[in-house]
Amino acid sequence: MRVGASGPPPPHRAARARAIKHTSPPNPTSHTLHTHTHTNANTHTHIHNRKNRKQPQALLNSSHKFYDAQKHFADYGVTFPGGAVGFDWSAMQKQKDDAVSGLTKGIEGLFKKNKVEYVRGWGTLAGPNTVEVSPADGDGAKRTIEAKNILIATGSEVTPLPGVPIDEERIVSSTGALRLKEVPKDMVVIGGGVIGLEMGSVYARLGAKVTVVEFSDTICPFMDAEMRRNFQRVLQKQGMDFRLGTKVAGARREGDKVVLSVEPAPKAGGGGGGGGKGGGKKGAAGPEELVVDVVLVSAGRRPFTEGLGLDKVGLETNKRGQIEVDDHFRTRVPSIYAIGDVVPGPMLAHKAEEDGVAAVEIMAGKPGHVNYNTVPSIVYTHPEVASVGLTEEQAKEAGHQVKTGKFSMMANSRARAVGDAEGLVKLVADAKTDKLLGAWIMAANAGELIQECVLAMEYGASTEDIARTCHGHPTLSEAVKEAAMATSTGKPIHM
Ligand SMILES: Cc1cc2nc3c(=O)[nH]c(=O)nc-3n(C[C@H](O)[C@H](O)[C@H](O)COP(=O)(O)OP(=O)(O)OC[C@H]3O[C@@H](n4cnc5c(N)ncnc54)[C@H](O)[C@@H]3O)c2cc1C
Repeated sequence: MRVGASGPPPPHRAARARAIKHTSPPNPTSHTLHTHTHTNANTHTHIHNRKNRKQPQALLNSSHKFYDAQKHFADYGVTFPGGAVGFDWSAMQKQKDDAVSGLTKGIEGLFKKNKVEYVRGWGTLAGPNTVEVSPADGDGAKRTIEAKNILIATGSEVTPLPGVPIDEERIVSSTGALRLKEVPKDMVVIGGGVIGLEMGSVYARLGAKVTVVEFSDTICPFMDAEMRRNFQRVLQKQGMDFRLGTKVAGARREGDKVVLSVEPAPKAGGGGGGGGKGGGKKGAAGPEELVVDVVLVSAGRRPFTEGLGLDKVGLETNKRGQIEVDDHFRTRVPSIYAIGDVVPGPMLAHKAEEDGVAAVEIMAGKPGHVNYNTVPSIVYTHPEVASVGLTEEQAKEAGHQVKTGKFSMMANSRARAVGDAEGLVKLVADAKTDKLLGAWIMAANAGELIQECVLAMEYGASTEDIARTCHGHPTLSEAVKEAAMATSTGKPIHM
């Protein structure tokens, strides 16, 4: 581990620093960029090879797209009626439904394989070791299951918004948004969080005019400030509109339309209603009505414990509706454990999964542990935004002397070769020890790229550790390496 490594850089590092001295603008595909650094024939050959490596990447990508268009686009609902690009909404929906049912059946198969009995029904706690199950179809007798331990994993539900009644047709939650009968002409997304932006970006791409109405003056408040500003700019470029600092006062159906009443959010001050620090569209100074085809309510989720019978075993929820657990996922009733969205912590599938594994290991008398400092978070827009650890702001608040390093995807060869170069990598590190504290990635495949930063943080790595790790070329992951170079030495190669 090289955390806090000091002393003169090893010779190869110094040589590399000399070799990258150039003043040209970032251009990863430029051959001339490097010509003045050639010192011998070997170096020369090497640089030529690196340049040539990008040519197959571009062709591999283009030919793959051609092949996909021929073989698979129709399955995904992308059509070419009369030569123009179009889409078949029912085929898109079918592909989604098939994917979900395939995955669900896969889980039922895993239950069987691992001798887990699957009982379909509504579970209610009847005692510290007893669950009563009402059959899912409402027929048949209740079943009582006795168990040494009970694990509550009842998840979460949409937080309702006063005055905005969800009918899952025109005023929808994420559930309804996933199965709209047609792509709306216009849509308001209430809430500039992960689910709202993901679903909004789906419909914006398919041609809907999407406006995001957000109470606070920024989207995705959990993000590093610099990253969320960039993210909003990218979404705006894709055609999404933002009304930040705007409060929704109510919504009503009028035939096939929804009338949404909005007004400046109290905190936004006079004339708020949309300006905001993030730079959304200027809103009205006073109340206003927006008339659209569909409103998506995605202003947050809350733990779901309705009808669970917590009171029957002496359990209750906290102010946020969560079931409190100790470090070992144990509730106040020693035989009953709880995990996932229903307990405090990020509401993420992989976090729930880690909780579940650890809780069951603990029940089995083994050590189980989840490191919540290294749970990644991913927004599956395009580009994706993925993160782990602290924002620059949080790192400063935590008392770190902070240094950061950035690398633009525009200077990454793979991203440029495949024409998908929107985004950047930003790393946050402790200035004294060089230890990686947080990583923020906006890129086509950020959800995959973040994993090396997650692993690095699990191992307590420095940014120099990442910078010195050989990364395949040309890959998007080289942008992480270069951001690590920028953080540890201030000298990425291609910037
Ligand atoms: C639209 C959407 C997109 C998301 N995308 C992502 C993503 O991309 N990545 C990610 O990490 N997370 C995502 N999440 C969050 C993720 O789905 C949750 O964090 C995760 O599913 C929580 O797991 P869980 O086991 O706690 O609960 P759930 O997966 O919600 O499972 C709870 C289950 O318990 C059942 N249940 C509830 N009460 C009872 C009862 N009394 N008896 C019997 N059964 C009961 C429910 O029907 C449900 O099937 C998304 C959420 C939504 C809504």
